[in-house]
Amino acid sequence: MELRVIGCHGGETPRHRTSAFLLDERIAIDAGALTSGLEVKDQAKLEACLISHAHLDHVRDLATIADNRCQMEAKPLVIAGTKDTLRVLKKHFFNNLLWPDFATIPSVTEPTIQYVELKPEEPTDIGGFNVRAVLVDHTIESAGFVIERHGVSIAYSGDTGPTERFWEVLNATANLQALLMEVSFPDREQQLATVSGHHTPKTLDAELRKYKAAADLPTLLYHIKPVFQSEVEKECAALKNLNLQVLQLRDQFVL
Ligand SMILES: [Zn+2]
Ligand SMILES: [Zn+2]
Repeated sequence: MELRVIGCHGGETPRHRTSAFLLDERIAIDAGALTSGLEVKDQAKLEACLISHAHLDHVRDLATIADNRCQMEAKPLVIAGTKDTLRVLKKHFFNNLLWPDFATIPSVTEPTIQYVELKPEEPTDIGGFNVRAVLVDHTIESAGFVIERHGVSIAYSGDTGPTERFWEVLNATANLQALLMEVSFPDREQQLATVSGHHTPKTLDAELRKYKAAADLPTLLYHIKPVFQSEVEKECAALKNLNLQVLQLRDQFVL
């Protein structure tokens, strides 16, 4: 499985892009940078996008990729998410007010986007990948994902603070090759992290110990707020007996 980082930050500047990752150039995890960070030919190749939750930094480029693909007469782009995430997208985003309803454009029978609901922890085939959504703890409904293909699994935390079920599922997942894990604020901003449902390095440290082999699991950190980038990186570098790497734009991994 090939993982490509398109956006890996918790905010945007000319050097930071919000969350978006590609697997085998076929499916995306979150849509924070699918047009700002991808050429048109790569936008056209996508079969599906897994959406962890409806916050703008994870869904914003669904608007622009839908518009581009509509003009390319591409196959419908599957937008997969849990029930409440899809409800918010339909009601508040593709609602013919904020943006056109691309689920009916150019026609209901050949739409630009197509919604697929992910029932929590029920394996679902999305673009040839076996996907399980696991509910995590954020300010709105948010899901992490466990994604398996050809016997190799990776996990994605979604936006979350301390949570339980996600770790139980990971502990029961065979051949987990990597975890994309959120961390957002420095330790001194713990209160802000707590009320916004995110991690600091301190809570990240405690959280990763819930995994049975934390020291061996390649843990790829994303969602750091640009304002706190160097501070969070320093605090993460001081954590012991973990296998951490802070993701950078354009990183690529073969897992
Ligand atoms: Zn969020
Ligand atoms: Zn976010």
